[in-house]
Amino acid sequence: MLRQYELVDLVKSYDPDADEDALNRAYVFAMKKHGAQLRASGDPYYSHPVEVAGILTKFKLDSASIVAGLLHDTVEDTDTTVEEIRNLFGDQVAQIVDGLTKLAMIEQKSANNKQAENFRKLLLAMSEDIRVLLIKLADRLHNMRTLHFCAPEKRARIAKETLDIYAPLAERIGMQEVKSELEEIAFAELHKEAHDSIVARLNFLREQGNNLVPKIIEQLQKDMAENGIKATVSGREKTPYSIWRKMQQKNASFEQLSDIMAFRICVEDIASCYQALGVVHSKYHMVPRRFKDYISTPKPNGYKSIHTGVIGPENTRIEIQIRTYEMHEVAEKGVAAHWAYKQGERVVGRNFKWIRELLEILEQASNPEEFLENTKLEMYNDQVFCFTPKGDLIGLPVNSTPVDFAYAVHSSVGDTCVGAKINGEIRPLRTVLQNGDQVEILTSKAQHPSTEWERFVVTGKAKAAIRRYVRAHKRDQFIAIGEQILERTFKGENLEFSEKGLINVLPNFEAESIDDIYAKVGEGLISGWDVLRAVYPGYKQSKLEKVVNSLKPVFKKSAKKAKKEDLKINGLIPGMAVHFAGCCHPLPGDRIVGIVTTGKGVAVHTIDCKQLEKFADEPERWLDISWGDAADEGAHIGRLKVMLSNEPGALGEFSNLIARYNGNIANLNIVYRTISYFEIIVDVEVKDLKHLTDIIAALKASKVVSYVSRANQ
Ligand code: MN
Repeated sequence: MLRQYELVDLVKSYDPDADEDALNRAYVFAMKKHGAQLRASGDPYYSHPVEVAGILTKFKLDSASIVAGLLHDTVEDTDTTVEEIRNLFGDQVAQIVDGLTKLAMIEQKSANNKQAENFRKLLLAMSEDIRVLLIKLADRLHNMRTLHFCAPEKRARIAKETLDIYAPLAERIGMQEVKSELEEIAFAELHKEAHDSIVARLNFLREQGNNLVPKIIEQLQKDMAENGIKATVSGREKTPYSIWRKMQQKNASFEQLSDIMAFRICVEDIASCYQALGVVHSKYHMVPRRFKDYISTPKPNGYKSIHTGVIGPENTRIEIQIRTYEMHEVAEKGVAAHWAYKQGERVVGRNFKWIRELLEILEQASNPEEFLENTKLEMYNDQVFCFTPKGDLIGLPVNSTPVDFAYAVHSSVGDTCVGAKINGEIRPLRTVLQNGDQVEILTSKAQHPSTEWERFVVTGKAKAAIRRYVRAHKRDQFIAIGEQILERTFKGENLEFSEKGLINVLPNFEAESIDDIYAKVGEGLISGWDVLRAVYPGYKQSKLEKVVNSLKPVFKKSAKKAKKEDLKINGLIPGMAVHFAGCCHPLPGDRIVGIVTTGKGVAVHTIDCKQLEKFADEPERWLDISWGDAADEGAHIGRLKVMLSNEPGALGEFSNLIARYNGNIANLNIVYRTISYFEIIVDVEVKDLKHLTDIIAALKASKVVSYVSRANQ
């Protein structure tokens, strides 16, 4: 294990301005906090954060990263709080440690690796600061190095997770070295036999004197020197894992794999790269289709190098990579190296421009697929990733709600969702989900999509499903209402109401089916009488309709035409026009008041009409009036506000009830509709107040009516 002063010296070796004091304090803090805790290896726990910090020095990271590396498990595993770290080590370190703690919690939630791709995205999205990710990788690397101390069943899970999640992440941010080491350890754990036999085979070849690597290095070095190129040549066997992958991909045996050796020529500058390439190609046969120039076209993760395959020295097929020293450093250490170079040039101070630099590297994707395939950290700022109770990850656009989540899981879950538990607590369906939330959707078969949801859902899938349902459902309602209205209209006239009659008149209403006609009537586009007259052309208006029509002018417009004799009201001013106020619909029996209006004569209101307040300051306009004796002769309109439960036949039962009390429905408007009820304003022709009161009482007793009152507004 690294000693305290050794760690500080390591950091100072590449960063003379390192915050020595913070490093020392963090080392001691981690040691104290982890106290007597032990690793599976039997080592004191604090050896782990110290080793992680040591790995981070290999990436040449800044002091804040090293300090955060030392502290990375304190919040998760000890009684330390983020606040405490903020006070002792500042905002930056606290934020990084907080990020790492959240990642650790997320990791525990993920029960399976089915959605490795989503999980990688989640980690990237949560790593707002790239240093969080770098420390996470260093943490994983050390845990893999000490994997053999863990219990066997735990080992396989960790190794698989490493292969699925962390090695690809390391590759994405260009950390080749870390990626290879993670892969090798995981490979040895997961496919021990394959790993061992490849290693044995490589050893055998070496022992046979076929260890060509040093010979080929020597030859290539000579080739470069002869041509005046300053170069460092290195070579190695490919890693067992990459050999195994190739065997899998090509479905080949080990013997069939020709190039198990890779060589690298590092030179000073780009011009020398192409000179070196010229030397190699002029001396050795090129293997077709193995040449790739990633210097002129870098890989999206910033990787630059020239690759070629040749029949090289010793007549052996080999792969050669040619690159500058800087390219090499970046290829092996990725982001961190890129930053270190910039810092070396003093281009960047301590203000984290390097994060933007990183984004620039990652943005250099050459085509749309690569752009999508390769990770720009920013790319996930517009997404959140949430867990199902089983640990599956669901990716959603930012600002998504539990309803979006429900529809993302399955349409049937969305359609029936009634509530949601977020991280175990019941929360409103409109709650905006956060990265890493665990969401449990509560469903009920009785529930249906609500138009309300449309206001807050953000995913197209949820929106489309809600609209589709509401559209279909609205039509169902219109059809039911329309059928009731038509039935009533026909029966009211003692005329036969049959589908046969309706089919004949489909063209009259541009309808394709009887349901179309019902829907149009229900929606109020055509009236029941329009249909009746179409089915029975020339049918004579009933007395009822005549009455309704004759009353209309009285109630709606022409007060002048209504003679006061017809209205039988006492107390009017002779010769002055009179009309009933549309707000309260006075009925014989109501206590009434007249208001003298300018131009329209006397308006008759009920004594409790709210509109009267307007005239409170003008007593000179009030007229004391009362109903005359014969007032009950004609039909009067009583207006009701009714809440009906939204179930089949409700409207029919409602209208039957009114008919049984000799009331007639003159007009009906649906003003509001929800899934469980609809509210209607209905004008009923009645004799007088008592008649209407009886009807109201009867309606109140009906099970389909949940609320009824006179509408006096
Ligand atoms: Mn750790």
